[in-house]
Amino acid sequence: MKREFAVIGLGRFGGSICRELSEEGMQVLAIDNDEDKVNEFKNIASHAVIADSTDEVTMKELGIKNIDHVIVAIGDNIQASILTTVVLTDLGIKKITVKAQNDYHEKILNKIGADQVVHPERDMGKRIAHNIISSNILDYLELSDDHSIVEVKVGEKMLGKTMIELDIRANYGCNVVAIKRGKDINVSPRADDTFRENDILIVIGSDKDISRFEKQLV
Ligand code: ATP
Ligand code: ATP
Ligand code: CA
Repeated sequence: MKREFAVIGLGRFGGSICRELSEEGMQVLAIDNDEDKVNEFKNIASHAVIADSTDEVTMKELGIKNIDHVIVAIGDNIQASILTTVVLTDLGIKKITVKAQNDYHEKILNKIGADQVVHPERDMGKRIAHNIISSNILDYLELSDDHSIVEVKVGEKMLGKTMIELDIRANYGCNVVAIKRGKDINVSPRADDTFRENDILIVIGSDKDISRFEKQLV
């Protein structure tokens, strides 16, 4: 069965979620109080309606209650984002994802019952910063405040050596969880496999340990 979603706020972020979900064959109800925005999504989403999401009566009439997962992507108007989230929690929506504009906004959203708070500008900024620091860091994913997963190009010093020789776990406290080699991805790399040029490693560890690993080996 197709899962049902609603996206409220069709700016760049909400619009992109709406497009992607629709392309993946999901049922999406697209909502915005701006007529032009709604028209833009008429042929993309399953339904696109003009509505003010802070109005509980309107939301009820739209049958939002029957939707599994609602994404609130109202950007600059923090008040509207908070009010919308309150309306949705009052209606007992199973899963609510909300985009936060700043840390205070995030705190409030967590308090009032948002199931998932996302912070795309901040997170993307961090990822890009890591990529700017070292062009060998291809991607970066924060697991917690002090643990991450990074995707890095194999370092010059690692070529022809094995994980045993480099003793990565003992020396750097990190784990290599996968090695990409061309089209292949090996998710249980052998400790005695030698690193080759163009290998890409997926490494998990504390930020401190990963940073040491990056500085000394990558
Ligand atoms: P992005 O950075 O993702 O582009 P943005 O910062 O442009 O987002 P806004 O334009 O502030 O975000 O808001 C996104 C959308 O939310 C807009 O299209 C706006 O019309 C819509 N929106 C704002 N308030 C409401 C509301 N009360 N009900 C429905 N839609 C709303
Ligand atoms: P350990 O006691 O550290 O788990 P081990 O007994 O499992 O080591 P091997 O698997 O042969 O021994 O690995 C030897 C060393 O190679 C490890 O101590 C570690 O430093 C390094 N190593 C092996 N696999 C990885 C990995 N996936 N990521 C990082 N280092 C690894
Ligand atoms: Ca914005």
